[in-house]
Amino acid sequence: MGRSGRAPADRSEEEPDRPNLSRAARLRIILERDGATCVWCGRAVDTDLVPATTEHLVPRIKGGPSWVENEMAACARCNRERSHRTPAEWIDELERRGLEPDREAVLRTLHKLQEAIARRGGQRRARPYVQSQLRRLERGRPQPE
Ligand SMILES: [Zn+2]
Repeated sequence: MGRSGRAPADRSEEEPDRPNLSRAARLRIILERDGATCVWCGRAVDTDLVPATTEHLVPRIKGGPSWVENEMAACARCNRERSHRTPAEWIDELERRGLEPDREAVLRTLHKLQEAIARRGGQRRARPYVQSQLRRLERGRPQPE
């Protein structure tokens, strides 16, 4: 979904501070923002067969906050299999397997996270992680032909 096609629902991600949303409420916001597909493998999530799970781009164990800016929807299989790999490592691995993870959506979300951290402060452990992931993902972008 391009930045030009801003739906009214996009306003939710602009609200600066709603840190106390429940996991279910955050997942609804994420699904509206990104669409109901797994960011890693692209299959439809939030269906009877494939529930949507909340993927933390910066893992909680690395200090990643439970904010919508750090979360994307993924299927349980990808979420489990990624484990603690970084987004860049996991995207490389998925591409080796012939899948098409949504690199641009991950980049967009990481930029939003960087902005949210700058606005809210704190997150000292997540900051360098976000920066190095942005660098790696931008470098790994396919070159236009
Ligand atoms: Zn998946």
